[in-house]
Amino acid sequence: MRGAHREHISNNRGEVLRVLIIEDEPRIVEFIKEGLEQEGHEVYSESDGRAGLAAALSENHDAIILDVMLPLMDGFAVCRELRDRDVSTPIIMLTARDDISDRVEGLNTGADDYLTKPFAFEELLARIGAVTRRNKAGEANAIKIADLEIDLDRHVVSRRGQVIELTPKEFNLLEYLVLNKNIALSRMRILESVWGFDFAAETNVVDVYIRYLRQKLDEGFEPKIIKTVRGVGYMAGE
Ligand code: CA
Repeated sequence: MRGAHREHISNNRGEVLRVLIIEDEPRIVEFIKEGLEQEGHEVYSESDGRAGLAAALSENHDAIILDVMLPLMDGFAVCRELRDRDVSTPIIMLTARDDISDRVEGLNTGADDYLTKPFAFEELLARIGAVTRRNKAGEANAIKIADLEIDLDRHVVSRRGQVIELTPKEFNLLEYLVLNKNIALSRMRILESVWGFDFAAETNVVDVYIRYLRQKLDEGFEPKIIKTVRGVGYMAGE
């Protein structure tokens, strides 16, 4: 269930990414910029370490492509400085050769990945996709329906900012409903997914727990999040 959710929120295809390139070789900057812009992304570039650091600190980016050998300040120092200042933007380091010590140092300074020059553009694109997905999965494992918020990592549920106490089973049921938002779910499907295949009870238990959830989540609030779908079962939605 959790896995499916991560996959869902981490799918950033079609999303515009803001990418910062810190690289002093104009041909490489052009090569990367052209490719990324063709993919619909926004690209910014700086050609020395200090200007790159300043840009990374002052603007939000989804990913930073950082060369190691740079004028004024090298890529390792830029990376270390960004991490020291709690900038968690994913960083892909570009190393001039397949040098193990460069790779190790890059990853030690807080880079997320590295790429050896020369590289194919598709390779870079794949790495950018991977590090931005990783970053997003880490920060936003929460779901919102109208004013109902469900933090899937901390198991905290709130409506209009007011925390709602749920039992573990109630939380599991709610989690299943919201991960399948706007999909009508049969009682049998809910029973199997939330209570497990071995659960021998009547589907009546689903109705009982739906009633508990409604009392806690929907009573006194509009819109009602938990809907009855006639002839099918239940559904969560606005
Ligand atoms: Ca360089």
